[in-house]
Amino acid sequence: MTTAKEKINIKKLQKLEKLISENTDAYPIREFIENKKSHKNLVDIIVKTILSQNTNDRLRDLAFSRLKSEFPNLLKILNAEDQKVIELIRICGLPQIKLERIKNALRRILEEFRNPDELCKMGKEKAFLFLTSIRGIGPKSAEVILFFGCGFDAFPVDTHVSRIIRRIGIVSGSREKIFKLCSPHIKNKILVHVFLIHHGKKICTARNPKCSLCIFKNMCNFRAESKLCG
Ligand code: SF4
Repeated sequence: MTTAKEKINIKKLQKLEKLISENTDAYPIREFIENKKSHKNLVDIIVKTILSQNTNDRLRDLAFSRLKSEFPNLLKILNAEDQKVIELIRICGLPQIKLERIKNALRRILEEFRNPDELCKMGKEKAFLFLTSIRGIGPKSAEVILFFGCGFDAFPVDTHVSRIIRRIGIVSGSREKIFKLCSPHIKNKILVHVFLIHHGKKICTARNPKCSLCIFKNMCNFRAESKLCG
């Protein structure tokens, strides 16, 4: 039987992290991490993370600011008329589903804690288990919440991160599998996450990746095997 260890190329993962740590100036990463770490309204972060599912940053931010201007304290959503909230967040898609997820998450938080910030005091591992036990919050959303809401180091695996990890040949398969196998071996998780997001948008794009400009080109399976690399 194949073990989890055999499904991951740890040497490549270590090399990837080393290359990233040597090239942090390639993208505005440090500023991003410092700015985001200072914002810690946990309820805001949870709502924003759910709004961000299946949409882009611009529409998520638009929906979030509309919601905040109507409900400065987002816990008030629990007592609001559904239709009113749906209209406010409609712009970011799936409004009915997202509203249900938001209400469910907020209810679970209030049932469990007197103050939502107590979630962070559980420690990362327990807080992760708690968050992923909430319907509509998967590993990626939980990691985002734990970083932006609690300041824990975290490794959310989105479409850019997973594409690059697969192409290089570190792990194949689902985002959940990539998260589970890679996360324990990464020393500075959020640095790797943020770098790969920028890299996926600029260089390792879904179509026509610019491999000749890529810092991972000498370790990448996709480049070695594909004629699509520019
Ligand atoms: S070499 Fe090409 S495919 Fe591989 S990670 Fe870089 S841009 Fe992506």
